[in-house]
Formats: sequence, C-alpha cells, structure tokens
Amino acid sequence: MSIPLLFGPYGSAQLPRDVKEYGVNAVWFHGFNEQSFADCSERGLEACVEFKTFRADFQKHPELIPIGADGSPIRYGRLVQGICLSKKDYLAEIEAQLRSGLQKFKPRGVWLDYLTFAGWFETPEPDLQESCFCPDCIADFCQTAGVDATTPERILGSYAEEWKAYKCGKIARFALRYSALIKDALPDCIVGAYMCPWTPGQFDGALTRIFAQDYKLLADAIDVFTPLIYCKKSGRGPEWGREWLDLSPGFVPADRKVQLILDAADYPDNLLETATPGVQSWGIQMFAGAPLFQDRDKALVFRRSVEAIRQPG
Ligand SMILES: [Zn+2]
Repeated sequence: MSIPLLFGPYGSAQLPRDVKEYGVNAVWFHGFNEQSFADCSERGLEACVEFKTFRADFQKHPELIPIGADGSPIRYGRLVQGICLSKKDYLAEIEAQLRSGLQKFKPRGVWLDYLTFAGWFETPEPDLQESCFCPDCIADFCQTAGVDATTPERILGSYAEEWKAYKCGKIARFALRYSALIKDALPDCIVGAYMCPWTPGQFDGALTRIFAQDYKLLADAIDVFTPLIYCKKSGRGPEWGREWLDLSPGFVPADRKVQLILDAADYPDNLLETATPGVQSWGIQMFAGAPLFQDRDKALVFRRSVEAIRQPG
C-alpha cells in the first residue's frame, strides 16, 4: 500500500475555505465525527480519525484504574492514559465503537490513540509507575509467560523482562486486532498510532517498560507511527522533532513511516526546525493547528515547510 504524504491540523475547529493553498491536504479529528467528515469533503481534504482506545474518565470508571505495585490504584493526573486491560466489557465497547464508525464512514486513515499501558508523558518530569497488578492481570501474565509469580514484588524482582515482554506483546496484539478490523472494512485505510515520544533508552526504558510500545512488535499492525512532539509541554526545545527524526532509524523499522504531530503552542519554530535536512517526517500533523490558517503569515510558513519536507535539499 502506498501511503501519501499528508499535512494538516489536528482538531475539529473550522478551517478557511482556501486552506489547501497552504499545503494542507488532510485533517485529523477526534472520533467518527460526522461534521468533521463533511467539512473535509467540502474542502477536498483527506479525513483522518483519531480513535481513542485505552483512555477513560477514572472519576466515572474507577474500576478501570490500573493497580500499582503497592496493590492500590495508580496515581494519575489529567492526561493519564491506559486502563486495566482485563476489563472485558470496556474492551468490547471500544471494539464496537470502531466497528460502527467503519461501517458508517470512509476515513483515509485511523490513528489509534492511547494504545499503551498506564501513565502520561506530556511533562518534563514523568511520574512513572508499573501496572497493572490486579488479580486478573497477574493471572493473565502467569499464564502467558508460563511463570508462577503471584505478587508485584516477585514479578518485578524475578521476572521483570518477562513482564515487560508480556505487556508489549499484549499492546501489539490489540494493535493487530484493531488494524485487522480497519483493513477488513477499508483495505486502503492507513493505520496510524500515536506514540510516547521518548527514545527507547530514555527514562530507564520507559517506552517499553511502562508504556509497552515496542516499535518492532507494533510494525505488523501500524503503517505510520506518530510520536507526540509537544516541546514546551515536555520541557524541550523546538529542535526536538528534528533530533527525534534523525535518531528514529535506530529504533523504527525501516519499512514503516514516521509522521510527527507537532504542537501549535510551539509554532513556528518547531515546524521550521523539523523542515530542515535529515530524516524527513512523512507528512505533519499540527495539534490544535486550525487557527494558524486564519493568519496569512503563519499559513505561509506552513506552506514553505510543507514544500521543504516534500522536496528536501
Ligand atoms: Zn488489571
């Protein structure tokens, strides 16, 4: 399958009619949103859905909060993602939402979001916790890994590698399942995944150890990997995207695409730095980016950057 270079904002805010003049050819928006599909078709833009997987309102659904190594529900903040993955009813609901959206609409791409174990990463100083140690998840681990370890202490003390491999395998299997649902319904639909933006070695291997996102294991399911390069929020400079891209051949399988999502809060320096020589982003998403196209100067920066990414050097 050939994957086009797609450029545009993330969000459901209205775009000006002439937005294509500025290099925009796609929009990413939350869920199977009828109005957003209509806006895209009116403007001749590719419609791409951000699909929420493992994220829930823990105030409303305390039963989904993963259990930490101390046997209590994990600490969490506003941006937390990940749930206890033994909650079958909730998992069935996610799948039903995906099936029904795919029956009704024909998105150009579906980007799976929050496809991780629990935590949050849009912060300079992450609060990293191992999870989930509820009885069902522990039993599932023991059965899958073929070990007998009934407590978090024993799992983390004697089977840390098996535990990490179990979690990464679990996320990768969900990715394959959702990807198969998407491709069965729409064979040409791009399957993307939003990713924790850390390199494999950062924060003591938290990309796999905590979030369970293993690029190699996910590669069977995912066409395009999209790390969240939100510089200010993560305490990083605008060159972060460029640096990340140049490091990416070291851990992203060569036959998969990488497409950054940048943050409008860091604009324009983040995009200008990204659109420089080196490994290129396969298109760009701009989080909360629609308002940029109401300002002609900002919109022209976008257009020039798209041109630079399409024809590097
Ligand atoms: Zn659990």
